[in-house]
Amino acid sequence: MRLRKKPGVREAMATYPKLVPLNGEEYRGRWREFFGNDNPIHVELGTGKGNFITTLAEQNPHINYFGVELYEEVLIKAVKKAEAKELTNIAFLWINIRDIENYFAPEEVDRIYLNFSDPWPKKRHAKRRLTHSEFLAKYKKILNSNGFIQLKTDNEGLFEFSLNEFAQELFLLKDITFDLHNSEYVEGNVMTEYEAKFVSQGMKIYRCIAAHPA
Ligand code: SAM
Repeated sequence: MRLRKKPGVREAMATYPKLVPLNGEEYRGRWREFFGNDNPIHVELGTGKGNFITTLAEQNPHINYFGVELYEEVLIKAVKKAEAKELTNIAFLWINIRDIENYFAPEEVDRIYLNFSDPWPKKRHAKRRLTHSEFLAKYKKILNSNGFIQLKTDNEGLFEFSLNEFAQELFLLKDITFDLHNSEYVEGNVMTEYEAKFVSQGMKIYRCIAAHPA
């Protein structure tokens, strides 16, 4: 997957230098300089329109948040939400998640959120799933040893696949539920745009935590 280069999009993103650092690779290992503090870093991969990450940033001013997103059409909506909320503890990386290690140094990240990632149901596309072991190996490097990944999905096949991939990469699984909204883990849950749609349709949400194996 490559970034689509629509005329003027890069210029539009460049008008938000505090929210969309286009030189993010230069901050690898020193994001504290970007934010001006040493607060923990939580990252949502495939952030879409950004309701989840901007709400968390609003609720937790002492955590620095990142929304990572490839497609500018949705990313710009997330950026505008952060701007409207006047958030200073959030940044967006307009990149392919495959390149995540170019943006975060080993152990620089405290938490990763994967929300309603594309399921890529065909077996031949398994490597594109964001919980494929090749992706998990990258996440394992950038997460610190107390870090964890929180996964939410509506897709049973992706959930089953992900549990197996986490186990293969020796992540420690816990707090697993097949019906988040009728479980004890719903307290404090912040919904994403996709989640709100699925829940309104009566669909069950699968969720788990995968802790770093260190
Ligand atoms: N997390 C949001 C939610 O729950 O509402 C969006 C879910 S949407 C199904 C998945 C998002 O992940 C899309 O916005 C897509 O562009 C993004 N995405 C998928 N693969 C990606 C990749 N390799 N790098 C960056 N973003 C990616």
